[in-house]
Amino acid sequence: MSKPPSPKGHIAVRATTALNNLLDLPGVTVSSVSFESEQVTVGVRPRRRRLQCPESGCGYSTRWRADTRPADSWWRSLDMGARKVIVTARLRRLDCPDHGVLVEAVPFARHRVRFTRDFEDLVAWCASKTDKTAVCRLLRIAWPTVGAIVERVTADGLDDSRLDGLVDIGVDEISWKKHHHYLTVVVDHASGDVVWTGQGKDTAALDRFFAELGPTRAARLQAVSLDMGKAYPKSVAKNGHAPQAQICWDPFHVVAMGAKALDVVRRGHWNQLRCAADRSAAHRFKGARWALLRNPEDLTDRQADSLAAIRRSGGAVWRAYKGKEALRAIFAGDLPPAEVTGLLDRWCGWAQRSRLPVFVKLGRTIREHRDGILAAIRLGLSNGRVEGRNATIRLITRRAFGFHTAKAAAALVMLCCGPITLRLPHEK
Ligand SMILES: [Zn+2]
Repeated sequence: MSKPPSPKGHIAVRATTALNNLLDLPGVTVSSVSFESEQVTVGVRPRRRRLQCPESGCGYSTRWRADTRPADSWWRSLDMGARKVIVTARLRRLDCPDHGVLVEAVPFARHRVRFTRDFEDLVAWCASKTDKTAVCRLLRIAWPTVGAIVERVTADGLDDSRLDGLVDIGVDEISWKKHHHYLTVVVDHASGDVVWTGQGKDTAALDRFFAELGPTRAARLQAVSLDMGKAYPKSVAKNGHAPQAQICWDPFHVVAMGAKALDVVRRGHWNQLRCAADRSAAHRFKGARWALLRNPEDLTDRQADSLAAIRRSGGAVWRAYKGKEALRAIFAGDLPPAEVTGLLDRWCGWAQRSRLPVFVKLGRTIREHRDGILAAIRLGLSNGRVEGRNATIRLITRRAFGFHTAKAAAALVMLCCGPITLRLPHEK
């Protein structure tokens, strides 16, 4: 005669079933639970009989086990209340004909990773929405760990088909860390999505994009918009890349070069004032930087006053300011292409006569790139969206400063601006 289950046993069975449902880990059954002050440890057992090779894309499975690991494996899962949840399991090892003896794969976590997929998805979602301090404090993990997680989630979420049907692309370099660390970012002009990111800003960096794109898809590219560096055009022109595409010089960068030239003139003037021992004038002028570089419609009252003072004193700084503003007006996006052509030519003429060496040089650069600049206007590859997106990417890369690798920074940009749909655990 079998003994009826004790009430205590009943509760235990019900509790593990409830935990099974609560943790929602696919492919395993909860076998033990222990509560400690800081964490809940949940022991689980793999449900399936076949052992799966953990290497991605392998797909080998077998019923034959090589042995069982002598120690438990563990993963951090989603928190329960204020407690961390640690899932442990005694895993078996299999002998894959391609990869050798390995610990079996578990369906709820990536290979060689100490976090469950749900936890990693939550981390990636948070990293794409909020800042470093908030993510680290909320999830109780270090920022470099966030970088590694973002890399894995992005790699899983990216679909090669995002590179299908590209017609007009933009290529940009973005710094992701101090001391000249750069990323190359490729954008689809049609969707505004970032479709590719890679380390570096040289020809080799863009070569890697074209290698992934392949010659068939590259042959369909019609226009590539770039800033005026020398590295990217070399890669675009290579055989098998996109020699047929129209190179467009991003007007946004032309405007930025105008601002940079003005800043050179301003600094020169400031240094003169300082050397002239007129310290109060130098000090007053130092505050003028933002008055000069900001758009006039965004100035504060004080900045507007200091701009008016510069206008009254005239001279090189005021001439440079007018040059920068004229360039900005030409590319404001509200002029028909024919008018832009005329105004740009007149601007180059002005620059040549400006007696400001840096503007003379800029005029020459613009003249050399005239066709590509005008092509960008004609094809409409210079809209405000690009400008807005660049600002977003810069914000994201600033957040990625603490990451250890360029790959992690690149992945964060893809995660935030790429065609990846992030789902939280409860949305699946
Ligand atoms: Zn394998």
